[in-house]
Amino acid sequence: MDLDLTEIELKGYPICTGVAIGKPFLFIVAEESVPEFSIAVEQIEEEVARWYQALKCSRKDVLTLQQKLQSEGGGEGVAILGTHLEMLHDPVMTVQMEEQIRRKGKNTEYVFKSVISEYEQKFQKITNQFFRERLKDFQDIARRIFGHLRPQKRQSLSGIDSKHIIFAHELAPSDTAEAKTEFIQAFVTRSGAETSHVAIMARSMGIPFVTNVDFPSLNLFPVHEVIVDGESGSVIINPSHKTLSAYADKNKRLRTHVTDLQKTYSLDAETIDGYKAQISANIEMCGDDLDKILIYGGEGIGLFRSEYIFMSKETFPHEEEQLDVYRRLVEKVGQYPCVIRTFDFGGDKFGNFHPPQYEKNPYLGCRAIRLMLKDKKNFKVQLRAIMRASAFGEVSILFPMISGLEELRDAKKVVEEAKKELKEEGIPFSRSIPIGCMIEVPSAALTVDLLLKECDFISIGTNDLVQYALAVDRGNPSLSYLYQPSHPSILRMIKMIVAETNRVKKTLSVCGEIAGDLLYTALLLGLGVHEFSVSVPTIPSIKDIIRRISYVEACELAEEALKLSTSGEVETLLQNFLKQNLAYTDSTL
Ligand code: PEP
Ligand code: MG
Repeated sequence: MDLDLTEIELKGYPICTGVAIGKPFLFIVAEESVPEFSIAVEQIEEEVARWYQALKCSRKDVLTLQQKLQSEGGGEGVAILGTHLEMLHDPVMTVQMEEQIRRKGKNTEYVFKSVISEYEQKFQKITNQFFRERLKDFQDIARRIFGHLRPQKRQSLSGIDSKHIIFAHELAPSDTAEAKTEFIQAFVTRSGAETSHVAIMARSMGIPFVTNVDFPSLNLFPVHEVIVDGESGSVIINPSHKTLSAYADKNKRLRTHVTDLQKTYSLDAETIDGYKAQISANIEMCGDDLDKILIYGGEGIGLFRSEYIFMSKETFPHEEEQLDVYRRLVEKVGQYPCVIRTFDFGGDKFGNFHPPQYEKNPYLGCRAIRLMLKDKKNFKVQLRAIMRASAFGEVSILFPMISGLEELRDAKKVVEEAKKELKEEGIPFSRSIPIGCMIEVPSAALTVDLLLKECDFISIGTNDLVQYALAVDRGNPSLSYLYQPSHPSILRMIKMIVAETNRVKKTLSVCGEIAGDLLYTALLLGLGVHEFSVSVPTIPSIKDIIRRISYVEACELAEEALKLSTSGEVETLLQNFLKQNLAYTDSTL
C-alpha cells in the first residue's frame, strides 16, 4: 500500500454547510523568509539609500496616520504613533543600521531582520509590562519598514482561477471579499469562529467551511483529493474509493433535499396554523445571491452590509460609485424593501481607506457608527448616496452598533444635513426614508424604548449582542464554548426588545446568524419575531421549517425556554423540538 496516499480524516468545527470534493490550495499569508546575500562594494551606497528610503516612507505613513487620528479627535493612538515616530528616528534605525549594512556587506532586509531578532531576544527577557508593550510597537514598526523594503503584493485569493479547496491558518474578511467565488469550493482553517465576519461571508456565498482543523503541511506529501464536509466538520485527505462513494451518495441526498426545498420557493413563510412571517436577505457582495433572493421567495433585503463591497478600495468610495451599488440592490428587489446599513468598519473589518488603528480592544473601540461619526464628511457622502437610491425603490437606513440615544441623535443630524443639501440641489429622494437602529449593544437593548421614540425600526444583531452581553470575543475560537446565543440573558433581552417594539407597533427583524439557524427559528417566532433576515442560501430552509411548525407550539416553546437556567438546557430543548419537527436534520443528510 502507498502510505502517502492513505486516507487521513481530520475533525474540525463545521461553520458553513455543504460538501465539497476537490484539490487543496494552501493559502499561507505567513511572513516570507528573508533572503541573505552579499552586496558588492560598489553597490553598498545604493543599499544604504534603499534603507533610508524605506525609513522615509514609514515615517510618512505614520505621520499621515497620526494627522488623520488628530483630525478625528486625537486620543491615545496619537501618542502611540508619536512613539513610533521617535523610534523611527532612533540611532538604532538610522546610523547604526547604516553602519551594519556597510560592515556586513549584506542585503538590507537580512541585516534588518538580524537587528530585529537581537532586539526581540533582549526584550523577551524583560518582565516589565511597559517594556514588553514597547516590543510590540517595535515589531509593528518593523512590519511597516519591511513592507516598504519588499513592496510585493501580498498573496490574494483573487489570484485563484481554477476550482480549489482553500486551506489557511486564518482568513480575514478582506480575503474572502477578494475571492472569485466560482473557484472556491470550500474553506478549511486552523482558526476561526462561527459568527466571525469570514464565516458570514462564506455562508452568504454558500461555500462549505470547516474551522479549527489541525491540518498537516499539505506540501510535504502528495494529496490527490480532499473532501470537506461542512455538516459533520470532517476533512478527509486522500479519501479511499469507499469514502468517495459514500460522499457521492451523501451529495445525491443533499441535492434531493435542495430539489425538495424548491417546492417552497413560491410559498409563503407561514406556519401550519396560519401565522405569516417574513424572510429577507442579508447581502454582502452583490454577487449571484442577489439574483436568488426573489427566486427563493425572499421579501427584500433586510441587511446590506455596505462595507464589504468597498473594502478593497484605496480611497473612500465617492457618492456616484456608492449610488450605483445601492441602486442596483434596490432595483433587484423591486417592490420589496432594502435596508442599507451604514459602514461597519472597525473590529475585525478594515478598508484601505479605514486601515486598522492601534486599539487595545478593537471590538470595544472605534467601530461602526462611532467611526463614521468621527468622519462626518464621508458619513454624509454615504448617507447622500443611500438617500438618492431611495428615489428608485423602498430604502431604509440602518445604523450599526448604536449604544444610546445621543449617538442616534448625532447620526440623525447628519441625515438631516444630507437631506437639506439634496433638497437644495434639487436631487430626488424619499422624504420619509425610515431610520433604524441595530440593537447589538446591551445598553441599546436596555433603552430600546427610548430609541424607538426616535427611530422607525429595529434590527437585532445577535452576533454582536451575544459578544457584548456575554463579554466573549465572537472571533476567538478558544472561547467559543462561552459564546452562547441560547444563554438565558440573550433570550430575555430579545423578548424585551421584541415586546417594546411590538408595543409601539414598529417593525423589527433579527439579522444575526441565529435568524438563519434552524435551531432558533421556532424560538424566535415564539418570542414574537416576525422578520428573519438571513443569508440567501438559507432562505428556503428557514421557510421550510416555518411551514412545518405551529405558531402556538412556537410560543409554548419560547415560554418553556425562558424558564430554563442555562444555555445547555435551552439548547437541548431546542434540539428536541427540531428533531420532532424536522425529521431530516437528524441523521440522513
Ligand atoms: C450582528 O452583529 O448580528 C450583525 C448582523 O452584524 P455583523 O455580523 O455584520 O457584525
Ligand atoms: Mg454586528
